[in-house]
Amino acid sequence: MILYSLQCAKGHVFDEWFANSAEYDSRSAAGTLTCPECGGGDVSKAIMAPRVAKSAGEPAPAPAAPTCMPGGCGACSFAGHD
Ligand SMILES: [Zn+2]
Repeated sequence: MILYSLQCAKGHVFDEWFANSAEYDSRSAAGTLTCPECGGGDVSKAIMAPRVAKSAGEPAPAPAAPTCMPGGCGACSFAGHD
């Protein structure tokens, strides 16, 4: 799912969920996108980056393993630093 920020010809900005960018294109082409505030059908993407929803159940990324620079980081307990 992709959340697009849309803007009507009167400047109302609202968010709408789409399955993917192709669904936005088809709905935009079909004229079924309307502003919830004024009902206007002249709707286009607002200039914002789309946010992509994480799918439920997706495992969280593992935290990065701690690393030390040569010379030691001074904050870890690894032995053998140069
Ligand atoms: Zn509007």
